[in-house]
Amino acid sequence: MMRVYQLARRLNLSTGKLLKLLTSLGIEAKSSLSSLSPKEVRQLEKLALKKRKPSLKAKKLHARAPIVTLLGHVDHGKTSLLDAVRQTAVTEEEVGGITQRIGASEVEFQGKRIVFIDTPGHEAFTAMRAHGAQVTDIAVLVIAADDGVMPQTVEAIDHARAAKVPIVVAVNKIDKSEAKSDQVKRQLNKYDLTPEEWGGKTICVEVSALTKEGLDGLLEMILLEAEMLELTGDPEGDFKAVVIEGEMDRQKGPCSTLLIQEGSLKIGDILVGGASFGKVRALVDWKGKKLKEAGPPTPVRVLGLSDIGTPGGIFRKVESERKARQLAEEARIEERAKSLTKRDKITLETLYQEQVKEKKALNIILKADTQGSLKALRDVLNNLEDEEVRINVVHGGIGEVNKSDVLLAAASKGIVISFSVGTFSESRSLATDERVEIRSYQVIYEMIDDIKKSMQGLLEPRYEEIEIGEVEVREIFRIPKVGVVAGSYITVGKVVRGSKAKIFRGDEIVGEGVVSGLKRFDKDVSEVLTGLECGVNVEGFNEVRKGDLIKVYETKRVG
Ligand code: GDP
Repeated sequence: MMRVYQLARRLNLSTGKLLKLLTSLGIEAKSSLSSLSPKEVRQLEKLALKKRKPSLKAKKLHARAPIVTLLGHVDHGKTSLLDAVRQTAVTEEEVGGITQRIGASEVEFQGKRIVFIDTPGHEAFTAMRAHGAQVTDIAVLVIAADDGVMPQTVEAIDHARAAKVPIVVAVNKIDKSEAKSDQVKRQLNKYDLTPEEWGGKTICVEVSALTKEGLDGLLEMILLEAEMLELTGDPEGDFKAVVIEGEMDRQKGPCSTLLIQEGSLKIGDILVGGASFGKVRALVDWKGKKLKEAGPPTPVRVLGLSDIGTPGGIFRKVESERKARQLAEEARIEERAKSLTKRDKITLETLYQEQVKEKKALNIILKADTQGSLKALRDVLNNLEDEEVRINVVHGGIGEVNKSDVLLAAASKGIVISFSVGTFSESRSLATDERVEIRSYQVIYEMIDDIKKSMQGLLEPRYEEIEIGEVEVREIFRIPKVGVVAGSYITVGKVVRGSKAKIFRGDEIVGEGVVSGLKRFDKDVSEVLTGLECGVNVEGFNEVRKGDLIKVYETKRVG
């Protein structure tokens, strides 16, 4: 059976072009062609000649290697598969030279390069997107043949789709006697990933990370998919690189792995990315080899920057260190202002305006307690569309709101809706950092009501109590006319006069009120910070005792 890339090679045409030609001739094909008639081949050759002439040389110059991330359920073999692929690219002597992983690696297959991002999993993939950068060109969805499609497989599919990244499926662990590849492929149907051999469009390769069976096929298919994408990256273009990861080395200082997307980088170049900047002192590739220069898309460890930068952050070149320092300082001030005002938080109230401006779609990540309610909610939401706004359930899943849900909402500029399920506390703090709203409902019509209102831009703003400080009561003073004053020590945050207070005795809340009096020594003050002592008077609660904990809250508008 002839493969598309083989025919493409024969016709001296890129696979992408050949596929377009085939489609224009009404021939359906992706990776394999059933017998083409000689007439059809002649016809193709003629057309190929025409197509080949223009820009091929120019395209070739700027064609770049694909960047691949492995996604899938835990324990399905992402790390093993990556290791197996990487081993094929490293010689015995080189192994000793690789002292540390830099976050991405390169392999060469059939004379072509493929770059792999080393952190498998959709969490890291989407975190990078949430911070502004799309790095991956192709997602390899790893599914263990003995386990099949699992919840995180579904998450991974939705995350890849939300990023509009094509998926190549690797059915792994086919060496196992329990392997049921056919069953996995059947399951894929359900997720609109029908394998080619079953008449669908998804490239699906059977592999074993253990025996290395099928790895060549996988790499071949990645290259094929890449050719269809016609990826380009100009080594002469304006420099742009994305931070993949980084660490602080005690001797060397900040070490950042940058993936070069456009242009070239050499020692001595001056970079700035967010609040980080510096002159490149050293460039090292993933095998630990020192480089003088690197072009797109090479992952390189860079030394000489003032700070490692955030994954997903973009670095650019500037002409002088003075300029770099100035830009970095501006970025630092802007970042700080942003974190203080939290202006850009997306909530159901603001979503309408945001989405109408951008995509005319409300992006929702939906979590529910059962498969049944998830389906019911999806149906209801799909029926809520009106002419102006479309509801787009980016991902729907069962169970608590997890970190990857929050990251996906951040990356999709959407919100999380949880129905009769809780939120992991780590997800809640991530949601605060990423400024993602999580709305919880128990009753379906309340959810519908809110969304309908939001679609019309009518939802009232909501207010939320946010803890701003904690205070230990160390002494009690009874002062005539004023009442009870708690001689206190601030352990966390601050106390602001006029803010709301809750008094805790152990785990129990024994009272509530408003901080009506606040004193430092004898002076009335409006605010006292951590590490200081003060006198607190809570209006509406006079039974405060030594040993109580007072938590102080501010009411903030969310949105
Ligand atoms: P990850 O969580 O997706 O990164 O999965 P790992 O790569 O850590 O693999 C999980 C387990 O499956 C490990 O014990 C691997 O040794 C095993 N494993 C991975 N690939 C294969 C394979 O192709 N065949 C067999 N038999 N075991 C595998």
